[in-house]
Amino acid sequence: MSTAATSFPERNAAEVADIVLASEAAAPEVQARRTRQRRQMYIGQVASYSLGASVLLLYAYGGTVDMAVPSLFWLGGLLIIGTFTVLSEAGFGDRFEDHYLTVFQISAHMALQLLFLLAVPRVGVAFLAVLFLIFAFGTLRMTSRQAMVTWGLATCGLAFVFLGTNLPIGLPVATRLERTASMLCFVLVIGQCASLGLFGATLRKILYRRSIELKAAYRRIEELAELDELTGSYNRRCIMRLLDVEIEKSRQTSSPCAIALIDLDWFKRINDVHGHPIGDEVLRTFAITIFANIRPSDSFGRYGGEEFLLLLPDTTGDAAERMLERLRSIVADLDWDAFSAGMRVTISAGVVTLRELDTADTFLARADRALYSAKAQGRNRIATS
Ligand code: GH3
Ligand code: MG
Ligand code: MG
Repeated sequence: MSTAATSFPERNAAEVADIVLASEAAAPEVQARRTRQRRQMYIGQVASYSLGASVLLLYAYGGTVDMAVPSLFWLGGLLIIGTFTVLSEAGFGDRFEDHYLTVFQISAHMALQLLFLLAVPRVGVAFLAVLFLIFAFGTLRMTSRQAMVTWGLATCGLAFVFLGTNLPIGLPVATRLERTASMLCFVLVIGQCASLGLFGATLRKILYRRSIELKAAYRRIEELAELDELTGSYNRRCIMRLLDVEIEKSRQTSSPCAIALIDLDWFKRINDVHGHPIGDEVLRTFAITIFANIRPSDSFGRYGGEEFLLLLPDTTGDAAERMLERLRSIVADLDWDAFSAGMRVTISAGVVTLRELDTADTFLARADRALYSAKAQGRNRIATS
C-alpha cells in the first residue's frame, strides 16, 4: 500500500531534467511536458494504491480486517489522486513554482494513512510504512522548507495517534496469511522506495551530464564568436583584441614584438580563373598551412578578405623576417596544381616590429606600408618598414 509512482524509466528522468533546466516555465512546450510528467506520476500513484489495496485484501481474506477496508483504502487514494489530477489538467499547479503541489499531495496522502491508522489499528504498521514511501516521493521535489513543514505535520499526526489515543497499533503475524501480507506490505514499500531512489539518482546523473554538455556548448559558442568561419583562424575582432594584448605585454616585459600583414597575391585572378569555391579552398588551405608552421604562442587571424594578421610575440625583426620568408616559400611550394590545373598561389607580407611610440593603429599602418612595398616590388616576397 503506497502512494507514489512505482518506477520511472530513464526517459522520464530526462524529461524532468529538461523541466528543471527550463528557465521559462511558461513556455507551452514546457507546460505540456510538465502535464505529461504529472500524468505519469498519477498513474504510478494509482498503481501504488492498487498494490496497497491488494495487500489489505489479503488481510481481509484472512479475516484480519473488514472486507470494506481494501476498497475504501483504494477509493480514498483514488479520490486524492483524482482531485490532484483534475487540478493538474486544469493547469492550476502551473501557477506555482512547485507545480506538483508537493506539500498538499504529501499532506493529503499522509492524512489518509493516519485516518486508516486510527480506523484499522490492527494493521497499523502497514499504514505507517507507507509514510516512508510518501516522504521518499517528497524528497524528489521538496525544498528544505517544504520538508520541514511536512515533517512537522507528520509529527503532529503521529503524536496524536500514539500519544493522544491508546489504540493498539499492530502488525498481524498470527497466521501464515497474515505473515505473508505483512511481509508483502514491507517488501512493496521497500521496492517502491528503492525505485524512487533510483529515479532520483538517474535525475542527478542526467542533470550532471546536461551541465557538462552546457559548459561544452558555451565554450564552443565562445570559440565560434572568436573564429572566422571559413578559415578557422581568429576573426578580425579577436585578432585586433589580441594585438592590443600583445602590445601591452611587450611593453610590460620589455620584450620585442613583431607582426606580419599577409596578403594572397593576385587572388582576384585566382577567383576569376578557377572559381570562387576554389578560392575558398585556397584560403582554407593557406590558413591550415600557416597554423602548421607557427608557434603555439603566435596568433593568426583574418584581417579581411584575403588579408591576414600574424602576431609574433617575443620575436625580433630578423627572426620575424626569417619566419615569414619560410612561410612564403612553404606556401609557394605547395602543390596548388592538385586543386585546380595550372594554379599558383603566392603570398606577400609586410613585417614590422613594435616601436616605443607605436599604437595598434600606427603599428598596423607600418605593416600595411611594408605589405604595399612588397606588392610594389613584384609580390611573392617579404618587406619590412
Ligand atoms: P594583390 O596581389 O594586389 O593583393 O591582388 P588581389 O587580386 O589579391 O587583390 P584584390 O584586393 O584586388 O582582390 C582580393 C580578392 O579577394 C577580391 C575578393 O573577391 C577576394 N576575396 C575576398 N574574400 C574572399 C573569400 O572569402 N573567398 C574568396 N573566394 N575570395 C575572396
Ligand atoms: Mg591580394
Ligand atoms: Mg588584399
